Amino acid sequence: MNLKPQLPISEPALSWFLQCCKNARIELAYGSKSKRSLGFFQSVSKSQTGLTGKIHLYSQSNPHRLLFTAIHELSHAIVWLDFDGVVAPHGSEWKAVFTELLEFALHYKFFPEALETPIRTHIQSTVFACSGTDLQLELAFRTYDSHQKPIVLDVPMGSVFQMQGRQFVKVRKLNKRFECKELQTNRLFRVHPLAEIQPISDLF
Ligand SMILES: [Zn+2]
Repeated sequence: MNLKPQLPISEPALSWFLQCCKNARIELAYGSKSKRSLGFFQSVSKSQTGLTGKIHLYSQSNPHRLLFTAIHELSHAIVWLDFDGVVAPHGSEWKAVFTELLEFALHYKFFPEALETPIRTHIQSTVFACSGTDLQLELAFRTYDSHQKPIVLDVPMGSVFQMQGRQFVKVRKLNKRFECKELQTNRLFRVHPLAEIQPISDLF
């Protein structure tokens, strides 16, 4: 299946990524939305199909986050091909491949200039796992989202907001999260700064 017209990644990054997949004998699936994940790599038995595996990318409108996710999953595929899956999913081997691919992408300006520094900082950070854990990088990607939904980080302390149908007040900043109190139960929760919310003023 030709996925080229569907993937919202600009050229020449798109052609490069598709060629990498072809070289590594990776099938690509793009479509549907997932709230939990941006994508994943699924290995397959080499002997049966001649394929290494399949990269699943969930649809999203932000082309830069999609390219970053694609490179993340491609790194899993290459590591699987090179080490037969006997290494840790986000271990040193994976990090080396991911770094090399990102350096290539930065060199050829596949990402906008504004994303270069957060991506380089991400490469150098010790927190180098699945997307969503690097707050500064995620905030940088967020500026390219077509529909920016409000997040906990955006509203001032003391604000009341709705999240997953329940009402909370933002109480104080913890190390990496915000302490928020559920109004109905007075229970305290540690909420991720990127958690999507609906400010209460928007509800009326
Ligand atoms: Zn991963």
